[in-house]
Amino acid sequence: VIEIGQPEHSVVTTCAYCGVGCAFKAEMRGEEVVRMMPYKDGKANRGHSCVKGRFAWGYTTHKERILKPMIRERIEDPWREVSWDEALGFAAAKFKGIQQKYGRDAVGGITSSRCTNEETYLVQKLIRAGFGNNNVDTCARVCHSPTGYGLSQTFGTSAGTQDFDSVEDTDVVMIIGANPASAHPVFASRLKKRLRQGAKLIVIDPRRTEMVESPHVKAQHLPLMPGTNVAVLTALAHVIVTEGLVNETFVRERCDWSEFEEWAAFVAEPKHSPEATAIMTGVNPKDLREAARTYATGGNGAIYYGLGVTEHSQGSTTVIAIANLAMATGNVGRPGVGVNPLRGQNNVQGSCDMGSFPHELTGYRHIGVDAVREQFEALWNVKLNKEPGLRIPNMFDAAIEGTFMGLYVQGEDILQSDPNTKHVVAALSSMECVIVHDLFLNETANYAHVFLPGSTFLEKDGTFTNAERRIQRVRKVMTPRNGYADWEVTILLAKAMGFEMHYSHPSEIMDEIAALTPTFAGVSYAKLDELGSVQWPCNEKAPEGTPVMHIGGFVRGKGKFIITEYIATDERTGPRYPLLLTTGRILSQYNVGAQTRRTENVVWHAEDRLEIHPHDAEQRGVRDGDWVRLASRAGETTLRALITDRVAPGVVYTTFHHPDTQANVITTDFSDWATNCPEYKVTAVQISPSNGP
Ligand code: SF4
Repeated sequence: VIEIGQPEHSVVTTCAYCGVGCAFKAEMRGEEVVRMMPYKDGKANRGHSCVKGRFAWGYTTHKERILKPMIRERIEDPWREVSWDEALGFAAAKFKGIQQKYGRDAVGGITSSRCTNEETYLVQKLIRAGFGNNNVDTCARVCHSPTGYGLSQTFGTSAGTQDFDSVEDTDVVMIIGANPASAHPVFASRLKKRLRQGAKLIVIDPRRTEMVESPHVKAQHLPLMPGTNVAVLTALAHVIVTEGLVNETFVRERCDWSEFEEWAAFVAEPKHSPEATAIMTGVNPKDLREAARTYATGGNGAIYYGLGVTEHSQGSTTVIAIANLAMATGNVGRPGVGVNPLRGQNNVQGSCDMGSFPHELTGYRHIGVDAVREQFEALWNVKLNKEPGLRIPNMFDAAIEGTFMGLYVQGEDILQSDPNTKHVVAALSSMECVIVHDLFLNETANYAHVFLPGSTFLEKDGTFTNAERRIQRVRKVMTPRNGYADWEVTILLAKAMGFEMHYSHPSEIMDEIAALTPTFAGVSYAKLDELGSVQWPCNEKAPEGTPVMHIGGFVRGKGKFIITEYIATDERTGPRYPLLLTTGRILSQYNVGAQTRRTENVVWHAEDRLEIHPHDAEQRGVRDGDWVRLASRAGETTLRALITDRVAPGVVYTTFHHPDTQANVITTDFSDWATNCPEYKVTAVQISPSNGP
């Protein structure tokens, strides 16, 4: 039972969970949240919310939250609570010592897709200007980095093409590797509304998701084997090209025709037909042909995709293959169509926009371009290094080799969320100083020397950018319980390192971002307060923002078709590991569960279960609810079985919300060829009965 008192005032802010970006009114009594009410004028949610956002304040006052800075010389030592001054001085001395001993490039940092744009901007500024290198990366590395690569190559910009409202003009919804009903519930409601109105639904997913089971429409479900996305998308393209379903007018006007011809000849090869690829993909050729015809001829076709696309060794190739399909059918550049990544975390889009990748400054401009770099140098009054820095996996490798010794991690539990846990442990254990800046003592903190208490979204001002490029205000509703908002902590750490940054409010940080970033040039807090939100690009050409991109022409000029050769992952099944594991989420939990597990209203999802097809379970003598040992080439863990035909024979599935699950103990080292995004969605495994953990 939740006691609800009477609120005294309310503040409009933005949910800090998923990339839908629902606006809420935090109804307050003094400094206490009474309830979170979905805000009717929120343009992403239109007055709706899901169970996570509705109760999102619980973890702010959880007893396990760390409110005092802590330090220790060695990870074997107990933590010692100290003042902010002592903690920051200790951290700065360690980092400076490391740089003196090992060189300027021996330290770096990781930004958070949970923090605000302004906080992310400051962390990358600290690293580039204060540390003097480009060893900055973001937790988006492990989720949507292939989106950035694939969409910038084909369309010219690293973001989804249309706003959520445009779904109302969509006639065919194609969902690939995503389960919005669990992971993006408020947007899923809008999708379902459109389906009830008659839009058709195609779902490409190894699992029969809630969207497939939607009572409103008979979905065309292509239950492919994990790891075969590119083969299925190429087979769809094969049907579209060989059955004469290409929108030739669009392609001739908007794309490079000779590149299209090369691509069309490639996909038309008989080896790419649905029939030729059926055994490999597991998809019925008749169903695949039907789906291709529906998408190409059913009116406005919009593709929505998630981590089931990106977290593969061919993640970037898959994003490119999706873009090829959209261009070939003329489904880009007007409301109701497009290619739309569903971002997992609240600010994945923003953290990428804010220059968190080692090779890019804000707005996706390469650090090696002199004119771009000089603009930042002039404003920051420093000389910047033009060489791209280390990505997260390269930081880990360099740590084990002894050349990368100091890491500042803001708002991410890399030990729980990055692949191959043993490798991450080895890397963290090799470093001389790990600074964790977070709300709770997470798994990564077990290997840290400095713990800086973080602030929640309720304790700070700033902005988040959602999956539709919508920049929205986050407004402080209470004093930070730990003393400082995260943006203030980064400024203090920079000062301790000898690099001064002067801002009295996050609005000043946004003004600097706008001055340095053409796509944000028209963004200010005054405008956000006036309009409620804006979608970038927001500048002189589009002072009120851009809901739909690529209207009349692609950002890069001509749309670029790129040939996408299917290359099977090196992660293969065999006699020892005959099943394929894939992963996902459930509605009531969020990511590794650090917040939702500490919010009383959503405790009902007490454990992660392993979904197993009845045939596979029977062969191994496993019954519903039994403990099973799940083993891969990388490691093993123990889970309870859930017998279901939602997964096909040969495929098992689990969520990863609980630390005990240790899903990443068993995931492998394979990653996307272009971006190093880990291949979380395909792991060869074996299961056997177990007596429990
Ligand atoms: Fe909206 Fe996502 Fe928050 Fe749910 S978790 S309220 S869908 S932003």
